Amino acid sequence: MQTTRISSDTHETVLRVEDAAAGLIGFIAIHSTARGPAAGGLRMRPYGSEDEALEDVLRLSRGMTLKNAAADLPLGGGKAVILGDPAEKTDAQLRAFARAIEGLAGRYWTAEDMGMSPADMAVIRGETRYVAGLDEGAHASGDPSPVTARGVFYAMRVAAEQRWGSPVLEGRRVAIQGLGHVGWHLAKLVRAAGAELVVSDRDAERAAWAVTSFGAEVVTPDEILSVPCDILAPCAIGGVLTVESAAKVQAEIVCGAANNQLADDAAGDALWARGILYVPDYVANGGGIVNVATEILGLADRRRFVSDKLAALREMTARILARAETEGVSPHRVADEVVAERLVRQDSAA
Ligand code: NAD
Repeated sequence: MQTTRISSDTHETVLRVEDAAAGLIGFIAIHSTARGPAAGGLRMRPYGSEDEALEDVLRLSRGMTLKNAAADLPLGGGKAVILGDPAEKTDAQLRAFARAIEGLAGRYWTAEDMGMSPADMAVIRGETRYVAGLDEGAHASGDPSPVTARGVFYAMRVAAEQRWGSPVLEGRRVAIQGLGHVGWHLAKLVRAAGAELVVSDRDAERAAWAVTSFGAEVVTPDEILSVPCDILAPCAIGGVLTVESAAKVQAEIVCGAANNQLADDAAGDALWARGILYVPDYVANGGGIVNVATEILGLADRRRFVSDKLAALREMTARILARAETEGVSPHRVADEVVAERLVRQDSAA
């Protein structure tokens, strides 16, 4: 396994990881350790090129600095990616990658993200202790997705209250893009709250299963972002909200789990200009890292910590949406400002 340092003006450490024998190429990006060890998941995707993977890991790791600060966790921001199809993943690749994480001596903690499972984290644990999201072991926190979904659901209720004066989702039409680990749990919560579901997944079988399980309506991946609904929940991939796609959204609220939903600031402004309330992704989906943090921090009272943090994220969402209304700017800009203030305070305390 070989690691090569890539110079960066924006990130503390960026590593390219290669192991020819294992067929592994990946990257680890540590954006900031100002608030504590950098923490963020490991993603595996069939990226089109190394440049594309590098761009993703840089963006995602910066997002983790914001997300961890938003949840007020004593953690910095980092992320890791492996190039390849998760269906063809091998233990040798995971072990080689884990050795690169171990080489960072605790400056970066990994966990699962897209294309990874708790079983994969157990393989990584064989080579490094700096991994969370395990099913077994001291302080194991397991799959974070149900907690992520719970946080997104709470954020939807807060946004509903801000927009319609009531958090009740009964009778509302909620569109979910992506029925993976988080999307599926979210569908369950939304359905249990009495909302109607319209869903889409690239995997037609998962979508069909939602018809059987929740009586959901299914639309194609091309249609989901512009389907008429009350709330749109992007829960698949990042960058789905562009200025162009924002112009077609027919929801009053956008609130989902996907990281980096906005392709750029202009997309967030475009939603705001159309009167659509966007809940900043890294505030809505912070439940996952909160769950993972219990393992990194070795907390004994995991449940209490998670419920306190979810309550704090709920309050923060309400504050951000209210301030957006008062100041007349998009919530994503308010969230960035609030978190930047938190990061500056941390710097001056250090
Ligand atoms: P996942 O891989 O389990 O699920 C993603 C689902 O989206 C899959 O079912 C996939 O088939 C589907 N999909 C992909 N592209 C699509 C498209 N264009 N249209 C419709 N469906 C599509 O991932 P996940 O763990 O559920 O995470 C979903 C998103 O939430 C990701 O962006 C992830 O980074 C983010 N997130 C996840 C967690 C977590 O706890 N798992 C925490 C925070 C953020």
